[in-house]
Amino acid sequence: MAEDGAPAGSRDEHSDARDLLRVRDLSTRFFTEEGQVNAVESVDFDVRDGEVFGIVGESGSGKSVTALSVIDLVDSPGRITSGEVWYRNADLAEEIRDENPEAVDGDFVDVRRVPDDVRRALRGSSFSTIFQDPMSSFNPSLTVGEQIAEAVEVQRRARANPRSTRSRTQGFGLTDVLTSTLVPSKRYVSEESRARAIELLEQVGIPDPADRAEEYPHQFSGGMLQRAMIAQALAGEPDLLIADEPTTALDVTIQAQILDLLRDLQDETGLSIVMITHNLGVIARMCDRVGVMYAGEIVERGTLSDVFDDPVHPYTQGLLGSIPDLDDPAPRLQPIEGNVPDLYDSEMEDRCYFADRCPYAMEECLNHPPEFDVATGEPQASKTDPGEHGARCVLADHEYDPSRALPDDYFEVGSEDEPENAEAAETEVSTDD
Ligand code: SF4
Repeated sequence: MAEDGAPAGSRDEHSDARDLLRVRDLSTRFFTEEGQVNAVESVDFDVRDGEVFGIVGESGSGKSVTALSVIDLVDSPGRITSGEVWYRNADLAEEIRDENPEAVDGDFVDVRRVPDDVRRALRGSSFSTIFQDPMSSFNPSLTVGEQIAEAVEVQRRARANPRSTRSRTQGFGLTDVLTSTLVPSKRYVSEESRARAIELLEQVGIPDPADRAEEYPHQFSGGMLQRAMIAQALAGEPDLLIADEPTTALDVTIQAQILDLLRDLQDETGLSIVMITHNLGVIARMCDRVGVMYAGEIVERGTLSDVFDDPVHPYTQGLLGSIPDLDDPAPRLQPIEGNVPDLYDSEMEDRCYFADRCPYAMEECLNHPPEFDVATGEPQASKTDPGEHGARCVLADHEYDPSRALPDDYFEVGSEDEPENAEAAETEVSTDD
């Protein structure tokens, strides 16, 4: 507990914003035969009540693994190696305070430190997810309505018996299908849950929901199936929806419909959403605040206008510069040269990970990975508060100094100058130290 009684990692006491989720120092590694991959590196962010927090970055930047880490769904050989995920839930905090005092701070619970059964229970009821490809999320041999009703039933049973692991994890298997067919009175899924599934299909805009509930996934279009997946995600009435590239597989008009649907649902239910996407258009349309990811780190975060109108990190500037501006069309778009690094621990150098692609790389960028710094220049701004606009870049703290720029070919493989440059830079950096 912080001295002022606010939970650990809390924003400053003058802010009246209510956080639903506070992610702190979250790191996830994959231990492969080729070596250790640092997929997520010391990530911090907050998600407030009823907001859409966007995480944007190129493929391989760690966006999806971050989302999976928050809900503890990282599969082997991946493992969350550090971090805290504080979720505001006063009832749960009260329930486990005596048993697990270290997992409770005020009304917040660190979901990484609660027992496994409690953490499992939070998935579906408190946190829900939708993914890019709805077809792979549905069982092709069961009707869509049956599968949504099953999700409703699991949550209904969990609420009736909150400490029962079985009630939360029991699924709808072949035995249940046969029992339901042969002995209707022993159906796993109740009539109430079936009726609720139809309501959910209606809520997400499926026409003739009672009829469509009887259809199989292959009878739905991609957009309809994405709506059905959203309906399934709402079955437990979650506080937080993690939407991982939810529109990537859809054509543009359907994308817009799905995004509008998510916004409407958010208005209706007060849901908070974490929107994972590589699409800056989706971020601009949907998000209240944004975290830009690169090489497993959040390299810039702030409100939508902080990040879009006043980007600090050269990677953010590069992303924004690589999309067309219809009001001021450029003759050529400006791509970000180079690629995201492989993230193998053995190859990650102790410097800014973006340095080899950065047009402003300077000697000081090679000292060590830059700390997160606020971009406001206000002395009272807290560098550790994820509510502040900031960037993991030396330029958040001071102006670019061209006289300290690295030579243009500094990072070129096989550059004849490289050894000399490297030596010269190291010498100058160490001199500065
Ligand atoms: S720290 Fe240096 S190299 Fe890294 S993004 Fe900022 S200016 Fe570029």
